[in-house]
Amino acid sequence: METSDALGRIERLISDLRAAGVRDERVLGALRAVPRECFVTAQQRAEAWENRPLSIGEGQTISQPLVVARMCALLDLRGTERVLDVGTGSGYHAAVLATLSAWVWSVERHESLSSLAECQLRNAGIANVTLRVGDGALGLPDVAPFDVISVGAAAGAGVPAALEAQLEPGGRLIAPVGDETQHLVLVRRAPDGLTFERRRLERVRFVPLR
Ligand code: SAH
Repeated sequence: METSDALGRIERLISDLRAAGVRDERVLGALRAVPRECFVTAQQRAEAWENRPLSIGEGQTISQPLVVARMCALLDLRGTERVLDVGTGSGYHAAVLATLSAWVWSVERHESLSSLAECQLRNAGIANVTLRVGDGALGLPDVAPFDVISVGAAAGAGVPAALEAQLEPGGRLIAPVGDETQHLVLVRRAPDGLTFERRRLERVRFVPLR
């Protein structure tokens, strides 16, 4: 009974995402496969599959499924990528990225959130994520370069240069940019590594990158 309720909630979310324009079947499959209830508090289990952000403590939120799906779709992951995720939070976005790529390194400034995320990723059965505590705006110079970088907090002044510099030639980066008004920005590093193409996309609402 409970199981079929849960399945119903998952399928309702997937059809909401389709209706909102997410067409990438690999991404929809990853959203279906990652148990979002593992990344919220016990009191929030019933709401885990709603298409909205939820509070995770330290004034932070687990991103809305639609935003996670849209960001993953824009990154066009093939399963072979080395990925940097900035702003681990609950670990949910990292888990979805990990389902779509080879390995994810995820950086969080709050030690408490990072250690909770570690348990949550283990409970969710995700084994290809490495967590680090620190300032994600600096990237991870000792692990770089990355094929893909996904930023889960808004940089006011633009995409941090250190992150763009850690992209492989041909690599992609997605980040919310702005203060009061934020937009997703998709960056592509040219195959020769020399230039960056930056495209401003839809409006979004993220906590700030500190
Ligand atoms: N992607 C997360 C939610 C992100 S909320 C999830 O799926 O749950 C944004 C997160 O970025 C917060 O946890 C916040 O603490 C973290 N953060 C903000 N600035 C940061 C920085 N400079 N370096 C690392 N993490 C940062």
